Amino acid sequence: MKRAVVVGSGMGGLVAARLLQRQGLDVTILEQHTRPGGLLHRFFRDGLAYDTGFHYCGSVDAGQPLGQVLRHIGIAGDLEFEELDPDGFDVLRFPGLEVSMPRGWDAWRERLAAVFPHERAGLDALFARMRAAVDAYGLYRMVEHTDVAHLLDVEGAGLLDVVRAHVRDPRLHAVLAGHAVLYGVPPHEASFGVHALILDHFLQGAFALKGGGDRLALTLARRIRQDGGRVLLKREVTEVICDGRLATGVRVADGEVFPADLVISNLHPRLTLGLLPEQATRKAYRSRVASTRLGHGHLGVYLELEGPVPELERRNLYRHTRWDLERGYQSTTAAGPSLWFACSPSQRRDGDGRSVVLLIAPHAWEDVARWKDTAWGERPAAYTHHKGALADATVRAFLADHPHLAGRIRRVEASTPLTTEHFTRSPEGAMYGHLHSREQMGRARPSARIRVPNVLLVGQGVFSPGVLGTALSAYYAVGHLFGLGPLLDELRSA
Ligand SMILES: Cc1cc2nc3c(=O)[nH]c(=O)nc-3n(C[C@H](O)[C@H](O)[C@H](O)COP(=O)(O)OP(=O)(O)OC[C@H]3O[C@@H](n4cnc5c(N)ncnc54)[C@H](O)[C@@H]3O)c2cc1C
Repeated sequence: MKRAVVVGSGMGGLVAARLLQRQGLDVTILEQHTRPGGLLHRFFRDGLAYDTGFHYCGSVDAGQPLGQVLRHIGIAGDLEFEELDPDGFDVLRFPGLEVSMPRGWDAWRERLAAVFPHERAGLDALFARMRAAVDAYGLYRMVEHTDVAHLLDVEGAGLLDVVRAHVRDPRLHAVLAGHAVLYGVPPHEASFGVHALILDHFLQGAFALKGGGDRLALTLARRIRQDGGRVLLKREVTEVICDGRLATGVRVADGEVFPADLVISNLHPRLTLGLLPEQATRKAYRSRVASTRLGHGHLGVYLELEGPVPELERRNLYRHTRWDLERGYQSTTAAGPSLWFACSPSQRRDGDGRSVVLLIAPHAWEDVARWKDTAWGERPAAYTHHKGALADATVRAFLADHPHLAGRIRRVEASTPLTTEHFTRSPEGAMYGHLHSREQMGRARPSARIRVPNVLLVGQGVFSPGVLGTALSAYYAVGHLFGLGPLLDELRSA
């Protein structure tokens, strides 16, 4: 039986392992952390669960892409999804304007046309273009054929350029670009195609998963083990061993070697390169990886509150405190963040009278980089103080919008890009690894394939982010090895 070693147990690595198992390979996942899942982790305090990098997803019904993936890898029956409010699952709040996004492209267009009636004709044309852009993504459509010219065209187009070509009202520009933070790209750098694709995923229906990202990771890990695979934790891979033109195994920190006929890396390409001998990659690949920009980091603020938070019940909030959306990507200061995402997953999953509210704001690595050589758990008081001040400023900004919650906050925890880097190894704590901007799409993105044919990369560093994007990265990699057409036939009919 051929042996596959998967480095890293993020969504991309777990799905790749499962697909390889289905192809008859003996799989071993090696994960440096104490839990599988990477950004899918939750942490627990006083009986409450706090999600770190997974809050909601779309397209989970039968026939929709994520729904089909979960069926195909055999875990759909073990997961329980709850739909967020179909009449408005994402609230976009700007100074003096609030619009909520309902399920379905037509409903969303009508909602916007009701607020901006003078833009109806432009919205019709723009929405037709967005929906056509989604068709460029073959893998998302679960078909082998991708119209590469169409794909490069839609991914290469600037989001705001296309939006401005159809509608004039600058407030509508902001509303239409208000979700770009969902994949970590400032609107002026966003790709029209990527934006349309990600909106389509959620417009098919937005869902929370009972048990959060942990549930997804633990269910996948359990299924892999049940079918004879291994998911080994606290095994940091330090080297991919290559003999001539092929990888023959991987070495972990304590020196143990795991022989392999195939190696899948779920790490950001920068980290994967660090594991490989130089001759495993072309010089052009190494310089592309070195020169591509990493995505934004984030500040995470995790609140325990007494009682419910009705405004976040079955809906998320994208809070833009300025119409100039680009400002929102500047790091939080004592004045608070100017852009944050808020959700309250506990209310729709495990509520016991207390609520959890999560606040996420873009935050630059540079703001905390001075502490990068200090160890997690032993960071100096200056860092703890800085992080605490950022959290306080964020809570103040949040309470200014939700004054009825004042006095009900029982616990505040915070994470910075240093925290993300520590737990997931994402370079510079980048939320989505790669900066998924217009300029870094298509051929500018580091490839999942390198010179060594039996090493492939999966995950958000080489593909789209999110649970669906990273799952599809595994289909791409495994399809490259065993035939994409038959794999997608199986996926569609699962
Ligand atoms: C704040 C935030 C909110 C998000 N919200 C959502 C959401 O609501 N919905 C959604 O769909 N997506 C969301 N995402 C994105 C989503 O979580 C990620 O795109 C996805 O989980 C990344 O998966 P990945 O396969 O790239 O692996 P990663 O999660 O990056 O995992 C990589 C794994 O490799 C391990 N590793 C690293 N180095 C080594 C080594 N040397 N040896 C062994 N193991 C190693 C790491 O420990 C980690 O477990 C969010 C992300 C963030 C940051």
